Amino acid sequence: MNQKDFLEILDILEKNSTRNAPSDILHSAFNRTPYTILIATLLSLRTKDETTARVSKELFKVAETPEKMVEIPLDRLEEIVKPTGMYRRKARTIIDVSNTLIEKFNSKVPDRKGELLTIKGVGDKTANVVLNSAFGIPSIAVDTHVHRVTNLLGFIETKTPRESERELYRRVPKRYWSRLNHIIVSFGQTICLPRGAKCDICPIYNRCHH
Ligand code: SF4
Repeated sequence: MNQKDFLEILDILEKNSTRNAPSDILHSAFNRTPYTILIATLLSLRTKDETTARVSKELFKVAETPEKMVEIPLDRLEEIVKPTGMYRRKARTIIDVSNTLIEKFNSKVPDRKGELLTIKGVGDKTANVVLNSAFGIPSIAVDTHVHRVTNLLGFIETKTPRESERELYRRVPKRYWSRLNHIIVSFGQTICLPRGAKCDICPIYNRCHH
């Protein structure tokens, strides 16, 4: 699929977006600061957005800053984040990330990718989500939906999300970078589902050769 067709698809999907996809629910679940966005993104790894939304809401009622977060006893934090899965690791990561922010970044989330990636537990996808959502810096966050749907449409042919990220940066104009994740994740969560895609109501049915 060429770039022109892909951009037209993005426009169609954006116009037809329902605004009640799980990713939208997550967006409105809590008070959004760079710190809460970073922590919610860490919680969201391998978890449904609905669950992340519910747990983030609970967690940020108890602590919305790194200082408050590190005061929570580890077992209590584990209990709160348990529904998101891998809770022991996530609780540990949240404490480590919060301590790093306090010690190295004056309790502020940095707005440069290079610095974000120096924080143990913060990977490419998390850094890109934070740059986009917290600081409005155009970047493409590639998760499983973005990787899967862009390959399914035949726009890219890649094996890993990392490769997809590289290809998408190369082929998608900057003006779409910030929006791309949201458009495709909403679509992947509501219509082009990984199992049981709703092709009968798909707004790009005629353009899909799947
Ligand atoms: S037609 Fe079906 S498989 Fe193709 S993009 Fe739409 S939902 Fe996905």
